[in-house]
Amino acid sequence: MAGKVEYVTHEPGDEDSWVCICGNTTSGDGFAPVDPHDHEVEPTDDAWKTRQLACRTCGRVINRDTLAVVRKVDIVSIVWMA
Ligand SMILES: [Zn+2]
Repeated sequence: MAGKVEYVTHEPGDEDSWVCICGNTTSGDGFAPVDPHDHEVEPTDDAWKTRQLACRTCGRVINRDTLAVVRKVDIVSIVWMA
C-alpha cells in the first residue's frame, strides 16, 4: 500500500488562495516559503529553490506546483523571518 498523499485545496475560483488540511487559509495565518532546512526565506528565485511553502498553523510543507503535502514539520522548529 502506498502512503496516502495529502493535498491542500484552494478557494473556489481562486487558485492562489489555499485552504490547508488544518483549516488555515492564505488570508488567515497564511503560508511561508521555506528552504530544505525549514527556514523561512524570501520568495525569490535565488533564495527559494524548493518551491515549498509551510503552513503557519500546522507545519505541513506543501509543493506550490502540485499542492501536495511533502512533509510535516513541528511548527516550533521552523525558523521564521522577523
Ligand atoms: Zn495547515
